[in-house]
Amino acid sequence: MKLTQNFAILISMLIIGLVYGLTYHVIIMPLLGSRLILCIIQSIGFGLINYFAAIAIYKKYNVLQKSNTLLQKTLQIDKLTGLFNRRSFDNHIQKLPLDDTYSIIFIDIDNFKNFNNSFGHQIGDTVLKKVGQTIKATVRSNDSVYRYGGEEIVIILNDCDKKNAFAIAEKVRLNISELDNSPFPVITISLGISSYPEDGTEIDKIIEASDMALLTAKKLGKNQVAMSTK
Ligand code: GH3
Ligand code: MG
Ligand code: MG
Repeated sequence: MKLTQNFAILISMLIIGLVYGLTYHVIIMPLLGSRLILCIIQSIGFGLINYFAAIAIYKKYNVLQKSNTLLQKTLQIDKLTGLFNRRSFDNHIQKLPLDDTYSIIFIDIDNFKNFNNSFGHQIGDTVLKKVGQTIKATVRSNDSVYRYGGEEIVIILNDCDKKNAFAIAEKVRLNISELDNSPFPVITISLGISSYPEDGTEIDKIIEASDMALLTAKKLGKNQVAMSTK
């Protein structure tokens, strides 16, 4: 809480206290005298007013907190695919524990420009969404899938070396190539894998290695998985 906010609350509470005191002195005492029972009754009255004010503030705080949580979640999600977005990837990748093993798979849809040009961007969007959801459904529950940008998707595989990452990447590739896309042609993807700490100890190097492996998969004819080689 800021110092100015703190000060504003202090002043508000002092004013309320002053109003209570003056009300008691100017109105209640001359009207009702200062008998103990009357003091207790009016104290309970003031107490109840405080109670309702506190409840109102608490409810407002709860509503704000809920909408803040929702906003934080929305900020991390890509609207089209429902996957985590690039901002989320950039955050998560920096927070991975350095004493763990993990792998990254970069994925790019093959010939997607042609697909869009032939069937329109709206159909392209539907396919992109389907590809994203299929990838998410294929990986393990503790892995995270992000839309890196355009039709590029990236997976962070926790506690996973390159050999295991290859098996998962192959499964992803196969599931996408078997997607029922009728009446439109089958969609294929290319995938590039790199692993920490096998391919380097710096995050940027791992990302670069995965991207290079993806390029290799494209050069070798697409619809395949390539692993980074140091
Ligand atoms: P390559 O096999 O080499 O990857 O060929 P490509 O045509 O897929 O080439 P590239 O990856 O450079 O093209 C990206 C295309 O993906 C361009 C654009 O038409 C399409 N694309 C990117 N984002 C979206 C999107 O949000 N929706 C749709 N429908 N298409 C997108
Ligand atoms: Mg691309
Ligand atoms: Mg592409």
